[in-house]
Amino acid sequence: MTRSLAILGATGSVGTQALDVVARHPGEFELDALSAWRSLHELAALAQTHRPRCVVVPDAASASSIAGLLPARTEVLVGEPGLVEAASAADVVLNAIVGFAGVPATLAALRAGRHLALANKESLIVAADLVEHVRATPGAQLLPVDSEHCAVHQCLAGLSGPDPMRSVRRIILTASGGPFRGKLTEELADVTVADALAHPTWQMGPKITVDCSTLMNKGLEVLEAAALFGVGVGLVDVVVHPQSIVHSMVELVDGSTLAQLNRPDMRLPIAYALGYPARFDDGFGRLTLDEPLELTFEPPDLAAFPCLGLAYEAARLGGTAPAWLNAADECAVEAFLSGTLPWRGIAQVIDATLQRYDDTPCDDIEALLKADMTARGVASGIIESMALSSARP
Ligand code: MG
Repeated sequence: MTRSLAILGATGSVGTQALDVVARHPGEFELDALSAWRSLHELAALAQTHRPRCVVVPDAASASSIAGLLPARTEVLVGEPGLVEAASAADVVLNAIVGFAGVPATLAALRAGRHLALANKESLIVAADLVEHVRATPGAQLLPVDSEHCAVHQCLAGLSGPDPMRSVRRIILTASGGPFRGKLTEELADVTVADALAHPTWQMGPKITVDCSTLMNKGLEVLEAAALFGVGVGLVDVVVHPQSIVHSMVELVDGSTLAQLNRPDMRLPIAYALGYPARFDDGFGRLTLDEPLELTFEPPDLAAFPCLGLAYEAARLGGTAPAWLNAADECAVEAFLSGTLPWRGIAQVIDATLQRYDDTPCDDIEALLKADMTARGVASGIIESMALSSARP
């Protein structure tokens, strides 16, 4: 049976790979909606190829700028209400929006009882409590697109019994270690943007690639895993695995460790999340094992990569602290990418921002929006004063 599909964040790395998956399985999905916030011309080109029922753009000005480039019958929706409408309407929703802006679409899709393939980590990191609430909606399904969480989901799916989580001793997320694996703190003083963007195993957008270089991506994924699988962060460990072939593991109480393996290819978790419980026969990144394959594991270096520890710290603080962590990271990474903050400054900004966390509980989306804004204000102030003091002779 053909299911209608909304791809939110269609022009990004996950969005375009999802369109590739969809194109391989004609008849499985009918494109209902595509959204983009910045790459409007790319969005229009995708709409010409895939002919969705509607597209979603940020505002009225964007809508009029692409109106003439769209197929005649494609409707244009605008802003957050447009995203919420698109996320509520389709049978299957892929939320690949970058950052905090993706939260309302997640809540809308689950509230409407949709099958949600979630690539927007922030929904689970900053809005865990709110997502938990709407996940109980009849029909709602939440499938992780993040490769590590997709791996854990697959490991857990193999456990039987009334409460399979009782057999779990811990979840072990693997990290590639990024481009600076093995470097010491002092060797990381003047890394450039190009260095940070040279990820050894995965091709991704710039924000997440920088987050991989600081291990903040893994820190955010610890919070994501805790929310997704309903465990405390104390049950989520991280191990560095530079080959990125074991995508994560689950250790059971009897001493068994389950793992999911394939060569890095985001189309596998995307296809898993879109098709679940069915599997497609694409063989993305399959292991032929016809030549030697070495897999290594090592503990993360928390001194050279303090961002990982800061994520656990935010989880310990609770309330809206994860929103503060996320906002501070977004500001710091943006400042790093624009050349106003050194790489090691990213962790310093996040640390200093968390130290000013105000203990606000996470009651509703308004509280989150306020926490996000407050934390951004604090982080921007810290970035500015750091830039000033480093400019002084
Ligand atoms: Mg990941």
